[in-house]
Amino acid sequence: MNAVLQPLVEVPLRHDWERDEILALMGLPLPELLFRAAAVHREHFDPAQIQVSTLLSVKTGGCPEDCGYCPQAQRYHTGVDASKLMDTGEVLERARAAKAAGATRFCMGAAWRSPKDRDIPKVAAMVAGVKALGLETCATLGMLGADQARTLRDAGLDYYNHNLDTAPEFYGQVIGTRAYQDRLDTLGHVRDAGLKTCCGGIVGMGETRLQRAGLLQGLANLPAHPESVPINLLVAVPGTPLADDPERSELDPFEFVRTVATARLLMPRSMLRLSAGRETMGDELQALCFLAGANSIFFGEQLLTTPNPATSRDVALFERLGLQAMQA
Ligand code: SF4
Repeated sequence: MNAVLQPLVEVPLRHDWERDEILALMGLPLPELLFRAAAVHREHFDPAQIQVSTLLSVKTGGCPEDCGYCPQAQRYHTGVDASKLMDTGEVLERARAAKAAGATRFCMGAAWRSPKDRDIPKVAAMVAGVKALGLETCATLGMLGADQARTLRDAGLDYYNHNLDTAPEFYGQVIGTRAYQDRLDTLGHVRDAGLKTCCGGIVGMGETRLQRAGLLQGLANLPAHPESVPINLLVAVPGTPLADDPERSELDPFEFVRTVATARLLMPRSMLRLSAGRETMGDELQALCFLAGANSIFFGEQLLTTPNPATSRDVALFERLGLQAMQA
């Protein structure tokens, strides 16, 4: 029997995955793939516990980058109004509300190519304030320099989000203003500063299964598995190139589940987050994703600019599935 088809449960932590090994896992009969992913999930986590984060856009729109999926790029006409960096007081008010709703991690996002050094003290003040509320802190600010990463760490930042987005060979079809290597460099600065990494990607952008395997290969073969791995399903916002691409077809929901399950097998100790696109998923699809090893979601009715399920719907779904919000 092919090694990949053996009824293994234990998958060791590895950073040397070959693309064809990953493809073999992704292509297993779905019940077998789900069984393996669920078994690995149970070895490292309580499958009834879901980590809950809340995301706030602290500086929206007007971004000079050209990410083909992003409504915040100023070059696309998506109806997103650009705004300045929020006041720290307003951010803290939102963080208190997120904590009251059950979030344990508060993520602050700014639509920058990279923060200017003069922005860092303002973000550091937000981070310090959110941390003082007893929440885990996360920021996503674009490319980050080594000194900037250390300053934010010293302010109390726990996680930095910076996604690989997709497979290296598909990347250039989605983003032209920064290279895949730039992303690896930022992730290196973040790790070197001792911050935890939140790093994932987006599926449903017109990539092939081979390229979805390439995204997972890039993530699993990083020097350390990201502590958080957001798996986003493209939200096709009118005005963005990907939404307007007539060649792109919608992703089969089972392909999304296969991607989640394979990510769980490759990165068994990472928190695997259902992120953008959850609003359009039925409860049954989300339940399958939890079975496949997803164990983190965003609570709150908006992500950076795209919609998210109402908190009341999530609370009801948790009740129906017997799930609980993980405590920090
Ligand atoms: S994804 Fe981030 S870097 Fe890319 S256009 Fe949007 S805000 Fe800018």
